[in-house]
Amino acid sequence: MEFDFSWLLWGLPLAFALGWLASRLDLRQLRLENRRAPKAYFRGLNFLLNEQQDQAIDAFIEAVRNDPDTSELHFALGNLFRRRGEYERAVRVHEHLLSRGDLSAKDRHRAQHALALDFLKAGLLDRAEDALRKLEGTEHEAQALLALLAIYERTRDWAQASEVASKLTTGGYGDFSGRLAHYLCEQALQADSAQAQALVRQALQTAPGATRPGLELAALQMRAGDAAGALETLMALAHSAPQSMGLIARPLAEAARACHQDARAISLLSDSQQATASIDVLEALVMLEAQPDVARQRYVSHLEREPSLVVAAKWIAGEKLEHEQFHPLVQRSLDQAVKPLTRYRCAACGFEANRHFWQCPGCQAWDSYPARRVEEL
Ligand SMILES: [Zn+2]
Repeated sequence: MEFDFSWLLWGLPLAFALGWLASRLDLRQLRLENRRAPKAYFRGLNFLLNEQQDQAIDAFIEAVRNDPDTSELHFALGNLFRRRGEYERAVRVHEHLLSRGDLSAKDRHRAQHALALDFLKAGLLDRAEDALRKLEGTEHEAQALLALLAIYERTRDWAQASEVASKLTTGGYGDFSGRLAHYLCEQALQADSAQAQALVRQALQTAPGATRPGLELAALQMRAGDAAGALETLMALAHSAPQSMGLIARPLAEAARACHQDARAISLLSDSQQATASIDVLEALVMLEAQPDVARQRYVSHLEREPSLVVAAKWIAGEKLEHEQFHPLVQRSLDQAVKPLTRYRCAACGFEANRHFWQCPGCQAWDSYPARRVEEL
């Protein structure tokens, strides 16, 4: 039987042609599918750049549907939901990412961090705390610890805040000893006398250059009837924190008076006043001065050095005017004009207050109030 080779002449090229055509069709289909996802993605990006976030979300949802395995798109979508204030949807996207088994450890940590931010923004502090705790030991640790610190400060949980501040310090993320001293002082405010002194002394050791622990310790000593001890604490503080003399001067004068050591306090306050004129140091000196004439002369000396409406008003208050019957009227106007000048002002946000704050009620910054009145800034 003779084999007919002639079919090979046309059969083989035909088979090749059909194969080529099929592969081309497959390739086109694949390209089309691949192109659909980036197209939706770029459309979303375009909406984002035009600040049309609603349309961007729709485009990203389509992109995620076309390419459900891409984690980057999920992250983009989740962040968009959070920025739009749609926290439930943001949480769902990030929880979905976390439930996936194929996610790398790095992306898993990133999703955990994003989830913590969703809870934080939504004000769900308990859930945010849990999510942030899971980030310890990851590359997001520093941010997570800082966010935890903010939560504990907001809820005034000073014991937990102290623990986190210690971790930040030992982790090499900066010096948090100043904050730690504040947390100890805050705890002391809620403790009984003996425990409060122990906490404040611990704060003093934690941040030897800080002003607050010394002031708090002196106040506790005064309350316990130990004026001599308070005076020693304040004399030491005046040397270690001369920039805070404005806050130290009054309690120092009161402690000195209580233990009859006025001369020591006057000597220290005069030296300080000589170096840097301060309204509060001046007031403390006036308070300690036994002779009224000498006290009034201190106001004049201050005015000779620098003009001050606050000091001028205080001097006039003790002066006899030619038309003395109008003095109360004039004094009332002066005192009203002086009031805003005696406030303290936050150096970080400009918030002004009648009393000094260790933590600004406006911007929550610590130690942002200089120990000087607005007129002296
Ligand atoms: Zn502030």
